Parts: sequence; structure tokens; C-alpha cells
Amino acid sequence: MVRAGLAAPVQGEPLLAGPTFAAPFHLRGDPADSPFTYGRYSNPTLEHFELALGELEGGSAVAFASGMAAISAVLLSLLEPGDLLVAPSDGYMSVRALAAEHLAPRGIETRLVPTAQLGADSVDGATLVWLETPANPLLDVCDIREVAAAAHDVGAIVAVDNTLATPLGQRPLDLGADLSVASDTKAMTGHGDLVMGHVAGDKALRVDRLRAWRNLTGALPGPFETWLAHRSLATLQVRLERQCATALLLATRLSEHPEVDFVRYPGLVGDPAYAVAASQMERFGPVLSFDLTSRSRAETFLDACSLVADATSFGAVHSTAERRARWGGDDVSEGLVRFSVGIEDPDDLLDDVGAALGTLS
Ligand SMILES: *Cc1c(COP(=O)(O)O)cnc(C)c1O
Repeated sequence: MVRAGLAAPVQGEPLLAGPTFAAPFHLRGDPADSPFTYGRYSNPTLEHFELALGELEGGSAVAFASGMAAISAVLLSLLEPGDLLVAPSDGYMSVRALAAEHLAPRGIETRLVPTAQLGADSVDGATLVWLETPANPLLDVCDIREVAAAAHDVGAIVAVDNTLATPLGQRPLDLGADLSVASDTKAMTGHGDLVMGHVAGDKALRVDRLRAWRNLTGALPGPFETWLAHRSLATLQVRLERQCATALLLATRLSEHPEVDFVRYPGLVGDPAYAVAASQMERFGPVLSFDLTSRSRAETFLDACSLVADATSFGAVHSTAERRARWGGDDVSEGLVRFSVGIEDPDDLLDDVGAALGTLS
């Protein structure tokens, strides 16, 4: 991760060059003879970042201006009228909104299946199978190998939204998926300071089609965000190691706490997701969910935390948590808290959460 995507050493040059800000590049004669022509197509900063993503994913990668720009590139450019999308009913809500508002009117049908039930028997007639595992916010999982094999038998493409795990937690392309998609707004870049996304694939041709879509629609990230993202990749492994270790400690502590109704964390032995998660994940991610049974108890808890920001999103170095039902659109109880573990000192964080739970008794 430290070296991914860096240029070969050049005397007197930095290891990671700063962002290149340009709309036009010097371009004499035939555009095909120049590596860079115009800022909407690419720039050196983006090219190095995409090389890093490709090394990390084990494929070729194309970066987008946001996770949703990456997701809509896949769904809008690879599906045609008459096609069937199979997608999770309990995943990121904007994917369902995109299907209802933009795929359905184009004659593309969507079949929603709960992640925990998404298996070989869910893919009949599918053109594209969209997985999000662990799914967000309730953290159910499905077996990527099983679904990918069944999907390929019926000629469908499989894409995995791997935002929560990152490729250091789970490697969708190695598990048989055709596309690995992520919001790089979250754990991948991990500082809560930018919005980006990417798609990686095992087949360069398919990724080139997505790159052509991006260049046509203009959904590429700016050079400054791209440079920040590349800089942040260097610490991905150390951030995740701390986050995942503390998440497991916190999940264990919460599962034993009398004020907590239930905890979901795929890395918790005994969690309904554990067996499948352990068979395909190398790290279980920075996010856990737990139920405090009512809106007022969840709000009291969030107010009482001092090291945990009440904020959406996840995967950043700062711990954040939110009462997920405040958004609407997810099928979750009023007291459900989605908690993203940061890189704070684990004892400080556990003490803070323990004290906040103590105000509920
Ligand atoms: C945040 C998120 C997205 C959307 O990403 P943006 O960068 O906000 O567009 C997609 N999928 C999952 C699982 C997410 O958490």
C-alpha cells in the first residue's frame, strides 16, 4: 500500500508527485501521440491513483467522482432494456433509488433479495447481480463464490459493492466477481475529507467501457481529491488493522452489555454472518450496528459520547455513529445505531462508549 501506484524513481523528483491541475495539456498534432490531452479524460495524478487501485484490487481500475458515480456507471452502461438486475433489499439505499427512478423507466427490471438469502437460487434470469457484503447498515453477508458461480452459469455479470471491507478486508475479484466497486469516500481513503469512488475489473475491456462512460459523462474526480486519496492509501493497512481490532473489542463488549438489545458485527463469533464472513473475509471491517431499543435511548447515547461524532458515513480515522432510522429508506428499528470505529486509542474509545451507555440505566 505504501508504494502502490508510485512512479519509478527519478533523481530529484518526489516519491508521490503533487496534483497536476490542468484542463488542456500541450498537444501538437495527433492527440493519439500524447499521453494527456484534456482534463476530462485523464491526468497524471489520476493515472497513478488508478494504477494503485488496480494493484490493490488485482485488476484494472477506473476512478469516479463519487461512489454513486461509479455505481451508476456500472448500472447505466452495462444494462439494457429487457435486462434483469438482482440487488440486495438491505444494501445502500441510493442503489434502490437509482433502480426505481432510472432503471425501471428504461425497461430494466430489478429483483430485490435480502442479503442473508442471496444465494445460487436468486440469480435466475439475471443479467447483472449486484452484491453488497457485508450489507449496510445491518451487516448481513452472502457467499460471493456461490453467487458468482451460479450467476456465471446463467450468463450474468457479478458486481460487488466492497465499500465496507475494502480490498484488504475482502477480495471480490479473487472470489469470482467480475467487478469490485467501492465508495472511496469511506474506509479506502479514511479521513472523511473527500468524496470519490471506483470500479475495478478482471477484464480490461469491461473496465475500458466504464472508462469511456466516465469520460463521456464527465464523472471523474478532481486532481486535488485524487491526490489526497492516493496519499491516504499509504496508511490503509495500519488504519484498518487498528479499526478492525477495536471494532471486535467493542462488539464483544456491547454484546455483553445489559443496555444493548443486540449487536451485529460479522467478525463476532456467534453473529449470524460469522461463518460465511470468515470464509471470505480477511478483516471484518470498521462498522458495527447495535440496537438501543428506542429513538430516545439512541439519541441519549449519541449525545453522551465525547469521542464519537454524531455523523453519517463510515470508515474514517475519527469514530462516528448515527441513529440510522433518521434518514428513512432503510428497514431498521428506531433505536439502531450504526457505529464506525476510528483509530482512537482503544481504551479511550471503549471507556467513552461504556460511560455513554451508563447514562441509559
Ligand atoms: C457511501 C456508500 C455508497 C455511495 O458512495 P458516495 O461516495 O457517497 O457516492 C455506496 N455504497 C456504499 C456501501 C456506501 O456506504
